[in-house]
Amino acid sequence: MDLLSQTKEEWEARVAEMGQPKFRAKQILEWLYLRRVRNWAEMTNLPAPLRASLEEAFPPAALAKVRESGAGDATRKFLFGLADGQMIESVLIPASPAFYGEASDRRTICISTQVGCAYGCKFCASGLDGWKRNLTAGEMVDQFLQVEALSGEKINNIVFMGMGEPLANYDNLMRAIGILNAQWGPGLGARHMTVSTSGLVPQIRQLADQSLQVRLAISLHGATDVVRGEIMPVNKKYPLGELLDACEEYVGKKKQRITFEYILIRDVNDMPEQAALLASLTRRIDAKINLIPYNVVEGLDWQRPEEGRQEAFLAALRKAGALATLRREKGHDIAAACGQLRLQVEKSFAAEGSVN
Ligand code: SAH
Ligand code: SF4
Repeated sequence: MDLLSQTKEEWEARVAEMGQPKFRAKQILEWLYLRRVRNWAEMTNLPAPLRASLEEAFPPAALAKVRESGAGDATRKFLFGLADGQMIESVLIPASPAFYGEASDRRTICISTQVGCAYGCKFCASGLDGWKRNLTAGEMVDQFLQVEALSGEKINNIVFMGMGEPLANYDNLMRAIGILNAQWGPGLGARHMTVSTSGLVPQIRQLADQSLQVRLAISLHGATDVVRGEIMPVNKKYPLGELLDACEEYVGKKKQRITFEYILIRDVNDMPEQAALLASLTRRIDAKINLIPYNVVEGLDWQRPEEGRQEAFLAALRKAGALATLRREKGHDIAAACGQLRLQVEKSFAAEGSVN
């Protein structure tokens, strides 16, 4: 069983089955999330026979760091090995006014939700090798715990923007959010968590209907069905009109501004007329447009437009009345391209024929 996927209620049920009082669940949760201890032997206030049965039912496995890399600033990227040998990435992004568009002392973790991705966006490294499997809630929670432990930093913001499509792993995602948000867990406010999606309409509506105030970011990347359809196959299933209807519903129900992410790819979606179309397309929705210069992926032909062109796109959007920002720092490239470190390392493992 997965130690970090359990809720308080589930721990209570489990200890009751083992003939123990309810407060044992509270003790377990204090060890896991307050003292950050998951080794049963160290949980000295639990009776030894209970520890022995728990050890058997919930082995204290942890994500194992395979590699770490930095982007020249304080951004750190972690490659983790899972129990079945698969690999995922998490990124720690330091406070940065340019990243958030405002002065801030936030430290953000970018969490992966799947191994690989089935959605096959043409510009993205995460989907290049297809989809392998969903992450469990515990594997998402553990990215948070491990990155805090490895960095010594307290994280106060989460974006589900790593490898994978979070809304295609909806139940595990919501379970992880519930645990990360819980008072008995890390206790991070739902408003400090952002789910990024390529636009799965039914799940956006589902998210709109549940009570947590998590934030929503939509990977738009195209202002017409033709342009978006060329680079994001998901657009055939959920075209822009339907997607924007779901976004409008989300904003209406949550009373909350959403974010449209728009990667600028040279000669694909960075023409000034696309900016005007983007502004008019999104006008009906209370949203901020976040422009992200494309991060070149090895093996793919897409290019990043030069800075002048990025600035011109931003100016055209603003002129058309849109609320927009442009991510300018190169140091954050690393965060916008989850999936690449895994790909590089897997390639080098294949070349070396070894795993370290
Ligand atoms: N599957 C979800 C979340 C993970 S991708 C989604 O698509 O939203 C997180 C963000 O990184 C998305 O906006 C995605 O389009 C963007 N992205 C992917 N590859 C990129 C690259 N090479 N350069 C810049 N952004 C990229
Ligand atoms: Fe998957 Fe998101 Fe990458 Fe598209 S952009 S392939 S949905 S991870």
